[in-house]
Formats: sequence, C-alpha cells, structure tokens
Amino acid sequence: MRTGAGKGPIEKGILDTLGQNRTKGGQKPEKRALDLRGTGSDLLKGNALDWPKRKQMTSIVALNLVTVAEKKGRSERYIKQYWKAYHCLEEVTTSDHKLYGIYCKTRICTVCNAIRKAELITKYLPIAKTWPDPHFVTLTVPAIKADKLNRYMQDLMIRGFKEIIEKYRKPSERGTGKKLMGLRSLECCFNPSKQTYNPHFHVLVPDKETGEILIKEWLIKWRRVKAKRAAQDIRPVEETERDMSETIKYGTKMLTDPEAKKFKGKKRDPFIYVSAIDNILYSMRRKRLVEHFGFKVPKCTKLRISHKATNYEYWKFNKENCDWVSFEDESNVLCGYRLSSKLRGILANNINLDLQ
Ligand SMILES: [Zn+2]
Repeated sequence: MRTGAGKGPIEKGILDTLGQNRTKGGQKPEKRALDLRGTGSDLLKGNALDWPKRKQMTSIVALNLVTVAEKKGRSERYIKQYWKAYHCLEEVTTSDHKLYGIYCKTRICTVCNAIRKAELITKYLPIAKTWPDPHFVTLTVPAIKADKLNRYMQDLMIRGFKEIIEKYRKPSERGTGKKLMGLRSLECCFNPSKQTYNPHFHVLVPDKETGEILIKEWLIKWRRVKAKRAAQDIRPVEETERDMSETIKYGTKMLTDPEAKKFKGKKRDPFIYVSAIDNILYSMRRKRLVEHFGFKVPKCTKLRISHKATNYEYWKFNKENCDWVSFEDESNVLCGYRLSSKLRGILANNINLDLQ
C-alpha cells in the first residue's frame, strides 16, 4: 500500500492486499460481507490505469461547465448531467484488484467514455475484421458558428446521412445497386482562432466503393453550402482496431487527453475551451453519436450480477492527490498516480470560459 510519496500498489503489484484490515496485533478480523454489484473494473490492466487522470480532468472541466451552463441559462435538467459527471466514481470500493462504484455514464465523463468506447470496439471489431478492404472516410461540412451547430448536425448531417443510406437501400434489395454498410460517428472540433465549429462524420466502411459513394452523395447533398471535395477524405484502413478507435471518438476532441501526441512539438500548451465544449455537448444532446448501418449486430444481454465480499476497502477521490485515498487512512492512495506537471499546469491555467 502506498503511503504518501513513492510507488502505488498497482506499480508494486500488491493490490491483493486491498481491503484487509490491520489491527495492532496483526490480526485481520473478518469484515461484514458486502454486496458488490457488477463485474468490477480491473485496476491492473487496460484503460483503468489512467482513470485517476481521467477522473481529475472530468471533475475540473465539469465544474467549469456548470458555471458556463448556468450563465447561458441552460435548464436545471441539462446542468444536472455536469454534476453527475463531477460526482462520477467519487467514492469507490475495491475488492480483489477490482474497483466498484457508480458510473455517471454522461458524455463529458472521460472515464465513462473510455468504458463505452471499449465496449463499442468489442461489439464492432469482430464484424469489421471480416470486411474485405476496409476504408476510413471523413465527411465534413464548412465551418460554422455556434448558433448553427444544432441545426447543421440534426437537419443536415444526421438526416442527410440517413437519406443517402436510404437511397441505396431499395436498389440493393432488388439486386440492382450497392448496399451501403459501415459504422459512423459524429464528432465536432472547435477552432479557437476563428471561433468556429467543424462537425464531421468518421465512417468505417467495408470497401473503397462504399466510401467513394458516400463522398459523392455527400457532396451532392452539400452543394448549396459549398462542401469541398478536398475537405473530404478516404484512405485504406491499415489496422482495423486502431482505425475503429479513431472512428469512435465520442463527441469532442477537447475532452480527450490534452497531452496526446498531436500536441507534442507545438510551442503552446493546449487550452480547454469550456464554453465551446458546452455548445458542442448541448447540440449533441438526444443525438446518436455512434451508429452502424446496413448490417445487424447480435444482441448481447448484460447480466446483472452481484457477489458477496468480505475482502474490500472504501476509497474517496481526492483532487490534491489526483487519486482515490482510503477512508481509513488518507495517506493510503489507491493507484499511486502522479499527474504530470504539464497537465497540472493546463488544468490550472489553460481553462478558457469565454471563447465560443
Ligand atoms: Zn462517469
């Protein structure tokens, strides 16, 4: 168990001591059995390793989102999701390497988004791996101001895309045309220097012909707003899992890790534009961000499971430590995570509430 500075239990691989009570005589009395719901998240592997960072970023951004959303007069119901994200996994229980807690499942939570993304990849990857010549397509529209975002996304992009699929459905059923299938996700970036938004679709398709049809039809649809061919992109998929991960970004890049590779080498540290994030999330509400078309996915039912555990420990998230600390002894931290000074600086100084 980590105390104060030094290596955390994950790095030392001693998480299996979690939940064991210590007494002065070294005796470990049996705890009252606790009902743990779900399968728990393995803290020793996968994306759970950077959860402290994700939790820290989400808490800070969510609190700022509340401020800007209140200023804009957003409804109480809408603002509630930001609070939910702020409180996500605030208190957790661990037992046998695994973490149990209440997940907010909101779109701004980077912990819940990482889980959702992993689930979607598990769902779609086996299907995409059977595709003969998968291609990655990006469909864009000209940059717009915030007030047009909702209408563009709903009336033009989502509906427009559906109409393209529908146009090809009947001829393909009659055997006279190409059947379009693939996986599409809606994403939006903010350009702080121009204060404009770039909503776009990422689409993973089984072959080049499908991708070319999508681009051709997209340009016809968007003729009146002058969508340019050069702004659309198609390329062969090199690695299906990586490109699927690229397809399923979940909303807005500003909520992804500001330490991501693409920022490396740039002189200026990235900023988090909270008001712009709120505009994007507000426009995306009640819209499906990731959707498949032209193929069926076998349904998998989630089992509601629970088990009794006597070997467990309670933790609460502490922003100073950027980690969960033990209820029994706050000098015990769960993951031993260290926030980099760069990210600490971004979260302290590079949050902008005005640009949008
Ligand atoms: Zn969450």
